[in-house]
Amino acid sequence: MDKRKIQKSHKNFICIGCGKDTWNEYYMLYGRIWRRANPREKGMLCISCVEEKLGRKLTKKDFTKAPVNIASALRTAILKNRLSRS
Ligand SMILES: [Zn+2]
Repeated sequence: MDKRKIQKSHKNFICIGCGKDTWNEYYMLYGRIWRRANPREKGMLCISCVEEKLGRKLTKKDFTKAPVNIASALRTAILKNRLSRS
């Protein structure tokens, strides 16, 4: 991938809550959880913003079985933590 492509794709990973780049914080939540955090559904939210909107911390049960939740090596510490938190 060339640099321009990377930058372009990063644009879609900006947290709509705080503007943070969520490139390393990509995950899939179950639809009902996601809609509660982000009723507009479109866009990305970082873990901190999702938790602020839900008023609680995420646990591994909130994440789907999607490959991105299982196989991705690109993870921030907070995402790693929540993916294994019961
Ligand atoms: Zn955020």
